[in-house]
Amino acid sequence: MSAARANGAKVAFVPTMGALHDGHLSLVRRAKREASLVVVSVFVNPTQFGPNEDFARYPRDLAADHAKLEAEGVDLVLAPAAEALYPEGESTRVSVGMLDQHLCGPLRPGHFEGVATVLAKLFSVVGPCVAVFGKKDYQQVQVVRRMVRDLLMPVQVSVHPIVREADGLAMSSRNAYLEPAQRVVALSLSRGLRRVDAAHRAGERNVARLQATLDAELGGLDSVDYAVLADADSLVPLQPDAALGERTLVAIAGHVGRTRLIDNLVLGEDSLEGAP
Ligand code: AMP
Repeated sequence: MSAARANGAKVAFVPTMGALHDGHLSLVRRAKREASLVVVSVFVNPTQFGPNEDFARYPRDLAADHAKLEAEGVDLVLAPAAEALYPEGESTRVSVGMLDQHLCGPLRPGHFEGVATVLAKLFSVVGPCVAVFGKKDYQQVQVVRRMVRDLLMPVQVSVHPIVREADGLAMSSRNAYLEPAQRVVALSLSRGLRRVDAAHRAGERNVARLQATLDAELGGLDSVDYAVLADADSLVPLQPDAALGERTLVAIAGHVGRTRLIDNLVLGEDSLEGAP
């Protein structure tokens, strides 16, 4: 890699946890458009999972991931052992401040610290790069942008739109957990976003009414962690009587059975128009 860099090659980096699907591969293609050398990491990061989360059962298939990345013409796959990133005695953590006070933060204590810490390590390994992230993990993108800015990291963050199945379901490695009937229920996340998007396009600007439109679609989920309209930069939820901000994020996290799913949309910026 250093020889290629010496020859002026720009590096694009796509961090993943593997079990790669077309959403990941779309990020890889984006990376290829942004740089001449593409690095992808596959690492199920233990520090971003809570004690009652799915670290042990998270889908892993490194051979299949390698084959997919090779077919995409990826230059380098990093699949470090946990001890390489977390050697005996390591203790440094990167804390992201206010951004983990909202949305997934309070529900997944330590999650974004784990994400920021592993990304800081991976960025150190990869060096100066364009790092490509999916908008599906919207809060993660905000956290990474903040960290890169605050720690003066030589990383340019590039954000890719959410890649969906034909029926609107956001692609996720966790979709593999869903039984067919659960998969139907899972569609309520994208349907809720689509209804809010449509109402907003039709001119609705009342936060309480947009919220009610969202909530009306989510009754079939086994539980809803949050379904909110929030400021798209600070992630602070909007009060029902507040004016709709310049950029408003609509974000949902909920459970279908044991599977936790997330989805989001920025009003006026993303579209679910045309999705069923
Ligand atoms: P993960 O393997 O879930 O950690 O995801 C690795 C990267 O792929 C993250 O930047 C995710 O936001 C991105 N990603 C995952 N699913 C999608 C999707 N459906 N559309 C776009 N990006 C995605």
